[in-house]
Amino acid sequence: MENMKDLVAKMKSRVLGKTGLKVKILGVGGISPQNVVEKALEYGLNFYDVHGYKDAQGADGRDRFKNAFSKTNLKRPEVILTARSAALTCGELLGDLDKTLKMLDTEYLDLYGLYNITQAAGRVEKAMGPGGALEGLKKAKAAGKIRFIGGVSGHHHKEMLQLIKTGEFDAVMVPVNIFDQDVINEVLPAAKKLDMGTIVMKPFAKGIFTRAPEAALRYVFSCDISTAIPGMLALSELECNIGIASRFSGLSVVDMTALKQEADEISKAEGNNICRQCGYCVPACAREIDIKNIFYIERQASRYYSRDWAQKAYAEVVNNAKKCIECGECEKECPYGLPIREMLKKAHADLAI
Ligand code: SF4
Ligand code: SF4
Repeated sequence: MENMKDLVAKMKSRVLGKTGLKVKILGVGGISPQNVVEKALEYGLNFYDVHGYKDAQGADGRDRFKNAFSKTNLKRPEVILTARSAALTCGELLGDLDKTLKMLDTEYLDLYGLYNITQAAGRVEKAMGPGGALEGLKKAKAAGKIRFIGGVSGHHHKEMLQLIKTGEFDAVMVPVNIFDQDVINEVLPAAKKLDMGTIVMKPFAKGIFTRAPEAALRYVFSCDISTAIPGMLALSELECNIGIASRFSGLSVVDMTALKQEADEISKAEGNNICRQCGYCVPACAREIDIKNIFYIERQASRYYSRDWAQKAYAEVVNNAKKCIECGECEKECPYGLPIREMLKKAHADLAI
């Protein structure tokens, strides 16, 4: 088996825009479990999302990173850390940041930004206005708690463009894969124009690509991005991705054909309404409908399993689509503008026994 440390040493680095930080083209996504983070540190990857995502056992991403890092001999400056806050006000953001620094047992973060900027409830205006979260980011930078303002994340390309154009950020975090052409055609060039670093989430469109995952990752590296940070749930995924990234020299015609073929099949099976499993709609539903899981069952049924399997799985969903009162609150949170109400009706008609 190839030596992972050698492969990482060979892997290309890119400059993260105006921060000047040199990051490997493969970084580590915030949902990765502790054993994956430990190995990634050991192999020499240098860019980590330390956002507080919970794992299946409820462990916080910051604790997972701290535990993994404490097992190494690495010094803090040898890794580049990014996190975000969902706060919209200056005070809340500074509170979030202090908590994150304490949990990570570090004095500073390299990048700190805003989390999941969406179109809902005037969030952009609030975060960017007087007393807003941006003010907190500037104070944190002046106090030396963060080196750069950035890694601001969002799936709505219009809001991301709005934020980028303010010129206030050093880096953005956006989804890039073959389905996110708005980001590739509009957001990445706008960020590039202002010399912002571009950190890529969802390179596999939340696991949608299963037959051509290597091509999916090379596709992302071939876009004008700084680094991609897939969440890697198993060591095998980490090692496979290190292999792809270290050998990356471009996207071949064969890759593009395989990727397009799989993307076409997915689109055909699911229409244009493809749920990316981000889960942002879930907290918006007062009826606690298990939206993400319902669409997951539908997708698995159309791609891998039988109708019987899907009907049984759907029967176990306690808050199923029948309880939807069509208030539309979930749709305001969906980064992909999906017609969730309509999709839920279809799912229920297809899957209810
Ligand atoms: S439209 Fe239905 S699923 Fe969406 S928030 Fe309202 S009740 Fe929940
Ligand atoms: S419906 Fe939209 S917001 Fe909800 S999980 Fe799917 S992609 Fe995410």
